[in-house]
Amino acid sequence: MEKCLFCEIAEKRIDSKIVYEDEKVVAFKDIYPQAPVHVLIIPKKHISGVTSLEEGDRELVGHMFIVSQQLAKDFSVYQCGFRLIVNSGPDAGQAVDHIHMHLLGGRTLQWPPG
Ligand code: AMP
Ligand code: ZN
Repeated sequence: MEKCLFCEIAEKRIDSKIVYEDEKVVAFKDIYPQAPVHVLIIPKKHISGVTSLEEGDRELVGHMFIVSQQLAKDFSVYQCGFRLIVNSGPDAGQAVDHIHMHLLGGRTLQWPPG
């Protein structure tokens, strides 16, 4: 079975620019940044996406949001604003089947997204 790219990043078998890590999550810079600040927050546990979340993942998902606060401060977008995005499935363009939260900021973001 093919290895999951983001599991490999979390386990540091593939290089990435990790900007935050604790026992539950890892955050790293997106390789194709769509804004001056573009960080991905992932759980260390493999969850393929939003539709695979289970009751027991509530705390983990909440933790990802709390971590986003700290990252927004670290990247100086806490006050000016930032966007959190979780794509789910083909229509949303989910390309990696390991749940991830995009943190985007550092410029004015358009709405609605394309
Ligand atoms: P999504 O389209 O929501 O599945 O987002 C996947 C994101 O992963 C995209 O923004 C990619 O640029 C990013 N990505 C893919 N491979 C890597 C990698 N090796 N390191 C960092 N980010 C990556
Ligand atoms: Zn994975």
